[in-house]
Amino acid sequence: ESSARDPVGNHIFGSRFPSVPVPNVTLPNFVLQGWEPHADRVAFVEAVSGKAFTHGDVVRDVRRLSKALMAIGIRKGHVVVVVLPNVAEYGIVVLGVMASGGVFSGANPTMHALEIKKQVEAADAKLIITDGPNYEKVRNFGIPVIVLDDGEPIPTAMNWKDLLLAGEKAGPKEEEPPLRQDDLCALPFSSGTTGLSKGVMLTHRNLVANLCSTLFSVTPEMIGQVTTLGLIPFFHIYGTTGICCATVKNKGKVVVMNRYDLRTFISALITHEVTFAPIVPPIILNLVKNPIVEEFDLSKLKLAAVMTAAAPLAPEILSAFEAKFPGVLVQEAYGLTEHSCITLSHLGPAHGSAKKNSVGQILPNLEVKFVDPDTGLSLPRNTPGELCVRSQCVMQGYYNNKEETSRTIDEDGWLHTGDIGYIDDDGDVFIVDRIKELIKYKGFQVAPAELEAILLGHPSVDDVAVVPLPDEEAGEVPAACVVLSQGATESEEDIMKFVASNVAGYKKVRAVQFVESIPKSPSGKILRRLLRDMLLEKVKNP
Ligand code: AMP
Repeated sequence: ESSARDPVGNHIFGSRFPSVPVPNVTLPNFVLQGWEPHADRVAFVEAVSGKAFTHGDVVRDVRRLSKALMAIGIRKGHVVVVVLPNVAEYGIVVLGVMASGGVFSGANPTMHALEIKKQVEAADAKLIITDGPNYEKVRNFGIPVIVLDDGEPIPTAMNWKDLLLAGEKAGPKEEEPPLRQDDLCALPFSSGTTGLSKGVMLTHRNLVANLCSTLFSVTPEMIGQVTTLGLIPFFHIYGTTGICCATVKNKGKVVVMNRYDLRTFISALITHEVTFAPIVPPIILNLVKNPIVEEFDLSKLKLAAVMTAAAPLAPEILSAFEAKFPGVLVQEAYGLTEHSCITLSHLGPAHGSAKKNSVGQILPNLEVKFVDPDTGLSLPRNTPGELCVRSQCVMQGYYNNKEETSRTIDEDGWLHTGDIGYIDDDGDVFIVDRIKELIKYKGFQVAPAELEAILLGHPSVDDVAVVPLPDEEAGEVPAACVVLSQGATESEEDIMKFVASNVAGYKKVRAVQFVESIPKSPSGKILRRLLRDMLLEKVKNP
């Protein structure tokens, strides 16, 4: 294969697994089908409160919610922003919104009101679904709010329970909307390779295709048997598709946790007999290093596998984990919002294990290539280049942003990930670097451009660049190089406090370096790599 961009074009790699069919149904229909024999099995249970919904409850409430949403005016393509921590109802919210024709846009509930407002505005949202504690943040955005709360109903908002009852009463007359698989169903936010956070347009087909590729190794005996830990935030695509949708599809159980605390985490694993735990590298580090782990009888664990994705896992931490938790399979995986979630993954011994420290193998139905970022030419095996992927999981583009879309998806349909990696002779893929601006703090996205805009709003800041600094616990932390205006008296602390008062905790700038000027290319682009190296040098030799 060759194209204008890639005249050589012969280094394209497919999956070593046979391709799998992708049925032409909507995501809710795909994941709910076959629920009847499993109606009484628990689908979602909150680890701490014990609040639970069976698969039968999920089907009933998804139907009620979608009817109620249509009755209050939600139509195909309307975006519904969801500001909720991980709660037992989350999967119902996601599927109910999608079944009504709406587009689910999850927001991080730890964000400040102004940060959430930016997402609501950028998404042209028509409705917000939140809970009591977050209601104050979203009440004045000028769009209706549904509050999911067991407490007293809030007079100025719609109450979840009343709404479901109304949906129940709406009766069979409310026709299902004529949804098609290429309609949008999700709009998660990601900063992609550059700039501010943008809505990632995903269709039913994108997500059904991703589930087909990731779940191809599930055997009929596994249906109804897997208990998954629901700790990864459900607003993130890894939680939405990889946990909520995959579990409903497989008629398994999600043990829902809305906050990480090591003791609660291990007790939940033991009490609820969790067999599969998707987590992120900082939790693996914690399990390896924190003495609290010794308080527990780990022989009681039923854990068969942990999946770690979202950020690189240090090889020595992986080995230490395997030594401490023998018998627990560590499945590293790699994915990104723009590709509807998981893209590369370890699949376990039954499928020929990938090498340790690789992020795994190409999932079925996907094509992958590695290109020289300067020439755009594809590279042979064992040669690092920008990872590009082409499949039915590739997003439709960034919402209202043609420029960033065409920068990210080329004319041949390849999604350029901004990550550098290579594939070896056995088909194992390794991620070695990242060339996009993104900073990942404990797996959470932090967009340097957003923090730079906030800092430029400070009266004493003349210029600024935000770059990642490596950090053992968090993976990376945001660090700011700041040019202060003449006569300014602010300290590094003052600058950090200023950012902290404007953003959610995970976006805080955790190091500040005053500099004379910000190095830029002739076209005005910040030379981030240079700054990062300079900062690293300073940290090593203060
Ligand atoms: P998100 O869209 O929030 O899932 O972020 C996707 C980005 O996270 C990828 O483009 C990578 O930069 C990074 N990432 C995800 N998984 C891994 C992994 N296993 N190893 C290294 N980086 C990863």
